Amino acid sequence: MKYPKLRELKEAVISLFTPAYTSKFPAEPHVPFEKFRGKPVVDNDNCVGCETCANVCPPLAITNYDDVEKGVRIIKRDYGKCIFCGQCQDHCITGKGVTLSDKIFDMAVFDREKNIEYQEKELLICEHCHAVITTKEHLHFMHRKLGPRAFSSILNLNLLNQKLKLAEGQDTDVEIRDGLKRKDMFNIICPNCLRQVLVKYLIKGA
Ligand code: SF4
Ligand code: SF4
Repeated sequence: MKYPKLRELKEAVISLFTPAYTSKFPAEPHVPFEKFRGKPVVDNDNCVGCETCANVCPPLAITNYDDVEKGVRIIKRDYGKCIFCGQCQDHCITGKGVTLSDKIFDMAVFDREKNIEYQEKELLICEHCHAVITTKEHLHFMHRKLGPRAFSSILNLNLLNQKLKLAEGQDTDVEIRDGLKRKDMFNIICPNCLRQVLVKYLIKGA
């Protein structure tokens, strides 16, 4: 028969007289410790649907799907896969799109679907080649961030014009002949023609 070592006996005696480290949740309410990382909580008003958090999420708990027909990006957040690493919070481009709660920890469910949340963000789709550019909110965010420097991007400028109702799509359109070619793609974003027109509109509307 093996006898317990003195050190183990000492630990056993100490534990008899010290309070338990764990709480009796759910029988008693549990108060998480300071800097506890709980459920990531999304602030939809400050989330622009940029995909950054999905790109840095190690277990792929955040995924995106672009529905080009409906013109929306669907963001799926499956907290059943979350490891509470905080990467989404640290890399969020707005700094406020997602925050790990220091209070929400009880995420045990019988139905895994209950731990999944969805968001929808309107897409900006190229009207010529139908490629997804990004979400409209993402571009508006970049525009606000860049300030006057955003004028160097024709995409931001077009969106700003639409928002301010200074120019419609047809004002900025470039006619494509003989099918869409690489040279036409350059024409569409060419600042030599579009920027002059749009800046003129902006000054007139100011
Ligand atoms: S905390 Fe980590 S694992 Fe959880 S959603 Fe954010 S990036 Fe993904
Ligand atoms: S990084 Fe921030 S703004 Fe971008 S999709 Fe994630 S939560 Fe939203």
